[in-house]
Amino acid sequence: MKSVFLPRLVNGPFGDPGLHVSLRWQGTAVQFDLGRLDRLPAADVLKLTHVFVSHTHIDHFIGFDRVIRLFLARDAALSLYGPPGIIGNVTGKLAGYTWNLVDGYHFVLTVHEVHPDRIRSVRLPATTAFAVEEAGSRAFSGVLHEEPAFCVRAVHLDHKIPCLGFALIENTHLNVRKDALDQLGIPPGAWLNKMKEAIRTGQPGDTVITARWVDGATEHATELSLAALRDRLVVETAGQKLAYVVDTLFSTQNVARITELARGADVFFCESLFLDEDRDQALKRYHLTARQAGTLGRLAGVKHLQVFHFSPRYDGQADRVYAEAEAAFRGALAADAPV
Ligand SMILES: [Zn+2]
Ligand SMILES: [Zn+2]
Repeated sequence: MKSVFLPRLVNGPFGDPGLHVSLRWQGTAVQFDLGRLDRLPAADVLKLTHVFVSHTHIDHFIGFDRVIRLFLARDAALSLYGPPGIIGNVTGKLAGYTWNLVDGYHFVLTVHEVHPDRIRSVRLPATTAFAVEEAGSRAFSGVLHEEPAFCVRAVHLDHKIPCLGFALIENTHLNVRKDALDQLGIPPGAWLNKMKEAIRTGQPGDTVITARWVDGATEHATELSLAALRDRLVVETAGQKLAYVVDTLFSTQNVARITELARGADVFFCESLFLDEDRDQALKRYHLTARQAGTLGRLAGVKHLQVFHFSPRYDGQADRVYAEAEAAFRGALAADAPV
């Protein structure tokens, strides 16, 4: 199966956090965290449609200015999600510049502030110098954003401030078997999309799908049951899943939330600022060690663990951090116990 998410960390393991994910089938991209983005080409920044910010410590948010700089004169919309306080953080940053020559600019930034039980949204149009327009509030129960091909989930984690952990989840692939379709003798058409939609939305097996097609001057229509079509035509394959967790305490509650969020991920991107030998520092600063990151990956049953966001104190020793995380992930190093 072709990968549809093409993720890459914007900086090296000692650089600011930022995960850029190209969405192969639609030519757009999403981004997790906005650390320094100098190394991300402008063309890639401009592919962004959704940005997810874990928290606004400077190493996760300093790249915001580059995003705005590039989008400003574009006829584009960008959605940004962040933890409680993000609206104030964004408007505070924007207030640091002068916006008197922007009328006629079409760029609109929408900011979604994610609270444990609700999401408050505001629109910030460039043309009105980013004046805040309330854009409603909705209940939040885990899903931040959803579209036909994928969704983004989030959990609130404790980093001595609320910090969001994210998962990017592709929907199940529904592939139609060409040979079976040929045997059925009905040409492909809109009815196949109706069938897929019915499967995705969990419609009962006796749901009737009507296939209509024209053969010369003759119009045809055939009614088929969803269950029969599904058995005969459809091969389901699991979609991809990425998880992204940074800057968080190895506490019982965080561990439970991260394990649930990252369950079965193809790639789990996880911070590991410290080594186990400096676990007292990790505890004090509400960060993870490499051993804890490995433990989380193991508990969540992820396929691949990618640790990053290393403390500069290990400059030249990245191998030690990778090795410790991998050892805990593989079970060669005992799991750490949450505080
Ligand atoms: Zn950080
Ligand atoms: Zn932080």
